[in-house]
Order: sequence, then C-alpha cells, then structure tokens
Amino acid sequence: MSNFDNNPVVQGIDLIALAAQFGTPLYVYDGSVIRRQVQTLRDVFSGTDLRIKFACKANTNLAILRLMRELGVGLDVVSLQEFKLAEMAGFTAGEVTYTPSGADFAEIAEAIEAGLTLNADSIPLLRWFGERFGSSKPCMIRLKPNVAAGGNAKIMTAHAESKFGISVLLMDEILEVVRQYDIKITGLHQHTGSDIKDAEPFLQVAEVVFNAAANFPDLEVIDLGGGFKVSYRPDDAVTDMQLLGRKISDRFNEFCQSYGRKLNLWVEPGKFLVSECGTLLVKTTVVKEDPAKTFAHVDSGLNHLIRPMMYGSYHHILNLSNPAGDLKLYNVVGYICETDNFAEDRMLNEIRPGDVLAFKNAGAYGFSMSSNYNSRFRPAEVLIDGGVARLVRRRETLEDLVATQTGF
Ligand SMILES: *Cc1c(COP(=O)(O)O)cnc(C)c1O
Repeated sequence: MSNFDNNPVVQGIDLIALAAQFGTPLYVYDGSVIRRQVQTLRDVFSGTDLRIKFACKANTNLAILRLMRELGVGLDVVSLQEFKLAEMAGFTAGEVTYTPSGADFAEIAEAIEAGLTLNADSIPLLRWFGERFGSSKPCMIRLKPNVAAGGNAKIMTAHAESKFGISVLLMDEILEVVRQYDIKITGLHQHTGSDIKDAEPFLQVAEVVFNAAANFPDLEVIDLGGGFKVSYRPDDAVTDMQLLGRKISDRFNEFCQSYGRKLNLWVEPGKFLVSECGTLLVKTTVVKEDPAKTFAHVDSGLNHLIRPMMYGSYHHILNLSNPAGDLKLYNVVGYICETDNFAEDRMLNEIRPGDVLAFKNAGAYGFSMSSNYNSRFRPAEVLIDGGVARLVRRRETLEDLVATQTGF
C-alpha cells in the first residue's frame, strides 16, 4: 500500500478514532516508517563505514529522538538547545555533531565545553576556535562547494550565494588558519540542500570535498550532508536509493584508497528519516461555497504546518472521513488570519464539516517549525510504535501561552 492511499489505519490503529481520542489538530508519527528508512540507508550504504546523523531540527520530539538512539542513529544539532534535548533523550556528546549557522561564539564555546564536535562554518569562527582550543579539540569544517542543487531556491544551501559553510575558493585562507593554530581537522562536511533526487549532485559535491581532503591529514570523517528526497506526491519520481547508495559508496571507497585510509562516511538526513512517518490530522470546521472557489477551512493553519506557505511545498491531503465521496475541487485553508493555503484547486473526496483530513509528509519540519501565531495552541503529538499509540506531547493550554510573560 502506498503512503498516499486513503488508509485510515496505522499499525492497526484507526486514525479517526485517534483524532477523537486526542482531539485535532494532531501530529501522528508511525515509528515503523522511521525504522524502515534507517534500514534502507544502512542497506544501500552497506559497502561503507556509514554513520547516520539525524538532522534533528526536522523533528525534536524526545520520543522520536529516543527512537533514533535506540536504532543506533546519531544526531546533527544546529543549536545548544537541540543538544540539551538530545541529552534528555539519552544521547552523549560523542554521538552528536554540532553544525551551527552563524551562532554566537559564547554558545559555541559552551557546546564545545560540553563535548560536542564543532562543524565550523566561517573563517572567523575557525580562527576563534584555533585561538581558544588550538589542537586540544577536534574540529570539522563545513565547506561550501558552490554547487546548486535541491528542490527549490529556498532549500538550496551549497550554491555560491548561499550563507552556509566556508567557500572552497577560500581554501588557502582556511589552510593558513588551520596551520597557524595547529587545528586538528577530523572531518570535512557539506550539505547541499533538500529534496535532492539523484546521486549526481551528491557525487558532484563529493568530488569537491574529496579534492579538499588532500590538505587535511587527520581526517576521520567525510560528511556528505542530508537532503535525500522522499515522495510528496503519488506520482512523484522516487529516488532509486539502491543506485544512489551504490554510486556514492563506490566513489567514496575509491577516494578512501587514494586518501590512504578508511574513513567514516556520514550522512545527516532529516526529511528522509521522518517526513513520511508523520501525518497531521485536522478537522474541517466549515465548507464555504464561494462563487470563485470552494474553501474547506480546517482547525489548523500555517502556525502548525508552515511549509506550503513558506516553501510552496505540496502536502498530499486525504479525506479520511469520506474516502468514497465524489471528487470535488477545493482550496483547503487554515483558520489563521493571514493567507494560509494548505492546497489550492485540489481534487478531494467531498469534504463535509467535521470530516477528518490527513496531511501527509508532516513528520519533518512540521511541528518543529510550528508557532503560537494568532495565540493558537500548538498540536499534540502521538507516536505509534509496536502497535501502540502513545501521546508524546500534550496539547498546549493558556498557561503555556503566558508562561514566559512577566510584568503585566
Ligand atoms: C537541515 C539540515 C539537514 C537535513 O536536511 P534534509 O533535507 O531534511 O535531509 C542536514 N544537514 C544540515 C547541516 C542541515 O542544516
């Protein structure tokens, strides 16, 4: 059965009943999908010394982090706070890489003192690291390979104009700083962007990283980032993961031979591990038959799932309550006072007030990008694993909304 079939049952648990039990909007995660995705990566990269580092900004629910740890998956964190969450989920600093983007050096110092390996993304940061730590701590470098790839301009991170990483064109300057402070560079990293379907962009940036590697004798790790595409639509061309894994593995192993040593290959997927595991369940509040469009309003909005408005991303929608209903054309919109389309001109089974709709691919960058805009509560979250549905985050209350407000 495809991820896009109108199937209201996950591991024997009825989603409509779940929506009734815990209320809507509700994020539901299927742990078996995460297990499957981890296994797929291990299978396709089985010819290498692979380490998977979940880019946890995609989903920081502690239950998800715990599941990752149980599966032997490490983490890539982008803030000290994400590391604190990782610790709560049982991770130790050695299992976590820290890839901040322009963060305050005071935060970075705290993270390094806590034992995290820094993935440095600017020359000033590298110099600061050298002055402060010299060769006493390992350091990784995030390179910007100047390759444009990814689903759209907003999610590309390795093209020349991107803010991320240190341009490979600055290699002389990088090496000058590294030598001046005797910095021990143990890893080279790059992250190209998101929604990358084919092996070619990965191979292209890998070449840039491999070329740079000759300058660094202490490498233990090559980190090729995340960005592996998953399907968002029923007719999406899917990535041939077997082929992608084989192509990258073969080239990586060749590189290790020329480098003279076997290195670890790291990948740090977010979406690939958690996008498909998640569904956002919402309830239809009102159906408005406007002369121009039929609007199906739901009890959620861009405050809970911002990706359609932020990136123009597609989320497949199913009407779980009326799977055999006549197909009609809808704009599915939220309840926020702001334009918040979830879908425009979408053919869906007839939507009636009270119907439960399922937004697919909501496991990555869903809850983790949610807000309290319009003073709405953020959704509850449920993890289904081993055939059991567990509430892993309760819905917010008014107390939560005002908890940090003082002096009124
Ligand atoms: C966000 C991020 C990722 C994950 O990207 P996906 O497209 O979700 O796989 C990986 N690495 C870094 C450094 C990131 O910031």
